[in-house]
Amino acid sequence: MSQVESRGTVVIAVDRCKGCELCIPACPPAVLSMSVDQNAIGFAYPELAPGCTGCGACLLVCPDFCFAVYGYDEPVLHEEEDTACAP
Ligand code: SF4
Ligand code: SF4
Repeated sequence: MSQVESRGTVVIAVDRCKGCELCIPACPPAVLSMSVDQNAIGFAYPELAPGCTGCGACLLVCPDFCFAVYGYDEPVLHEEEDTACAP
């Protein structure tokens, strides 16, 4: 097990997303990835993994204003399974 720290989080207006994927490379810690599922208008949308810093880059880049960004007063720690491959 390893720990990942989140210093913020985002709320994503999933059904407004047009699936352009601009937010994915814009996220410095790379904690956004596109969904397998589709939203109400037929597009994949970003999903958040632990490790958000609350930096707001996703909010700035999204043309459809899908993100609300929040900073935590204290960092939140998440336990994660290690995914290292066996030799
Ligand atoms: S606020 Fe920053 S760290 Fe968090 S999801 Fe958006 S771009 Fe990534
Ligand atoms: S930048 Fe906005 S519209 Fe584009 S995929 Fe991300 S959330 Fe959806």
